[in-house]
Amino acid sequence: MRLPRVIMEVGDDGVAVITVSNPPVNALALTIFDGLKEKYAEAMRRDDVKAVVLTGDAGKFSGGFDINVFERVHKTGDVSILPETSISVAVNVIEDGKKPTVAALQGLALGGGLELALAAHARIATPKTLLGLPELTLGVIPGSGGTQRLPRLIGLHKALELMLFSKPITSEEGNGLGLVDAVVPSDELIKASRQWALDIIERRKPWIRSLHRIDKLGSVPEVVDIIKTARQQAKQSFKNVPQHQACLDVIEEGIIHGGYHGILKESSVFKDLIFTDASKGLVHAFFSQRATSKVPNVSDIGLKPRKILKVAIIGGGLMGSGIATALILSDIYVILKEINSEYLLKGIKAIEGNVRGLVSRKKLAKDKAEKALLMVKGTLDYTDFKDVDMVIEAVVEHIPLKQKIFADIEKACPPHCILASNTSTIDLNVIGEKTKSQDRIIGAHFFSPAHVMPLLEVVRTEETSAQVILDLMNVGKIIKKVPVVVGNCTGFAVNRAFFPYSQSAHLLLHLGVDLFRIDQLISNFGLPLGPFQLQDVAGYGVVVATTEIFRTSFPDRTFQSPLVGLLLKNGRNGKNNGKGYYIFEKGSKPKPDPSVLPIIEESRRTINIMPGGKPISVTDEEIIQMILFPVVNEACRVLDEGVVVRASDLDTASILGMSFPSYRGGIIFWADTIGADIIYKSLQKWSELYGNFFRPSRYLEERATRGIPLSAPAATSPAAKARL
Ligand code: NAD
Repeated sequence: MRLPRVIMEVGDDGVAVITVSNPPVNALALTIFDGLKEKYAEAMRRDDVKAVVLTGDAGKFSGGFDINVFERVHKTGDVSILPETSISVAVNVIEDGKKPTVAALQGLALGGGLELALAAHARIATPKTLLGLPELTLGVIPGSGGTQRLPRLIGLHKALELMLFSKPITSEEGNGLGLVDAVVPSDELIKASRQWALDIIERRKPWIRSLHRIDKLGSVPEVVDIIKTARQQAKQSFKNVPQHQACLDVIEEGIIHGGYHGILKESSVFKDLIFTDASKGLVHAFFSQRATSKVPNVSDIGLKPRKILKVAIIGGGLMGSGIATALILSDIYVILKEINSEYLLKGIKAIEGNVRGLVSRKKLAKDKAEKALLMVKGTLDYTDFKDVDMVIEAVVEHIPLKQKIFADIEKACPPHCILASNTSTIDLNVIGEKTKSQDRIIGAHFFSPAHVMPLLEVVRTEETSAQVILDLMNVGKIIKKVPVVVGNCTGFAVNRAFFPYSQSAHLLLHLGVDLFRIDQLISNFGLPLGPFQLQDVAGYGVVVATTEIFRTSFPDRTFQSPLVGLLLKNGRNGKNNGKGYYIFEKGSKPKPDPSVLPIIEESRRTINIMPGGKPISVTDEEIIQMILFPVVNEACRVLDEGVVVRASDLDTASILGMSFPSYRGGIIFWADTIGADIIYKSLQKWSELYGNFFRPSRYLEERATRGIPLSAPAATSPAAKARL
């Protein structure tokens, strides 16, 4: 591995080209800042250097500040390891340097990388270079002057959009906005940048210090007005996190009191933000997602993923059409099999609808959409399966049907072909029972809508080969999903851990707690939909089916009531027919429906579990805990059984599969911020009051009594050992 370094070459023209080199993205490690100071000092000192071109190695400018340093600050609590870059490098060395700097941008210039470029006196870029300040996604703000210089270069409006929404732009857009001075072909980048730097020194081009500019900022009343509106929007779009409001404070300070004041405030706010729970959670979520690709005995044994060029999908319903969409959008040929031409046509139309929907939402170019639609072919038999590399079965959840299909595809497909199922609940060993290809059988568990949701659970059995696991992980990456390898059990990782989510909501409802209060509190906590609204949207059929499956597997902790049956009997089918716990009308947000309350009363009377016949009295905090601690408890069982490789995989899966708020770091990270002991004691208390549903798991009890975090590696149980 090459160490991070900064190199300088001085040409006969008097231009020093300073290059940042730290593969793969030239992240700004601590030593890079030292290197920059050293090379700049030399360039300023040397009489043969007139100007500087600052660039990055191997086709990339820089991916930004080294995020490992954030993690170290979080672990040690020592903020002094953060380099002070904004004054000592961006202002003193680059912007106020006595010789001009031109930033030569290519590939990407993100975060701290772009901030260095903003401090330069001009920016030249190659086509399609990605430019952005995504720091807010890590719970902080730009910390090297970005909050001050970006508005001064491109105006406040656009700068807010880029920073608050962490939205990158291309160099072409940057050129139109005034962020980039010229876009040139890659082979001319350095030459054009050198010339630009010489033009500055010879006064043919202006020598611009961005921090001193005010021409694009607008008047103070205009600024105050724009910031006020942005504050309100940010309050709605980014609940429970401080960095958006803090970013607006810092920008306002700089515009009203001057750029240098803004820089000082930016630096101190940055140091406060890094210690917030939001930053700790977001940085953890970032590293957790990265870690998912490391799977012991799969990714570390020298295997190479095989090419998957053609995939057959069986079943063109909701999931099959979504999976097909994801594949064709990434140039993988799809054969879609259905039972008759009517269903086949429906499936193809659903794929077209998905693809055209992306075009109308401006997420896909029209020509790419048309090209993608040519990649799918419909069929009613197995003839076209003779040369497919993988089959993904997505038919209804029916064991004999899936078993028959697997026996058929074993015969119809070539011997290397991967045999995958999108089942959400059925044991894969059962599905593959009638074949002799256990090593090729795997679960490809997508989440609905499959072409949108980012998580792919790669479900391995004890016999699935490492090669097949690696191949499916690779396909997942190609189609822009995040593959998380999980073990084979009822509900796998996410659905299993979150099974108690709606169960505890129903239990609380029957103990007398108001349903709309529950939903509101959970949504305030940060999940997009409360448990009841989620059921309305998912459909009651799914609720009935999954409750039955979990009841069979975990009868000791499944809560049952007649409520969903009563809702269906009363003509309520959730979003499907516009009437559930909520009223769904086109064009407006779902509204709580008070006419559902008598049905709830009837269900409460039937099971009659309120202590003394009276509603229990609970605080808002207790409600959130009574919904989410049982999820943590089940997640502990998932860890204990070794269903996931590491605890942080469950964090990633909960964020990407259940939309658990990323700023809380994922379900296990969040639980550890509360403490195993508190969770254990609460569950113990509720289990005494309200029954077995809350009984703490063995893993939780052990962690709580021994004072060990839930996330600490365990893998001690026999089940866990067998899986890993
Ligand atoms: P669906 O009812 O929308 O579609 C199933 C399709 O399979 C139907 O179009 C049907 O005609 C077709 N089919 C049935 N037998 C077939 C055969 N022999 N050959 C070809 N096609 C056949 O069901 P869905 O919601 O897409 O679910 C499919 C699978 O995905 C199930 O195993 C389900 O558990 C799983 N899953 C569903 C979700 C979800 O949210 N719906 C999420 C994850 C996984």
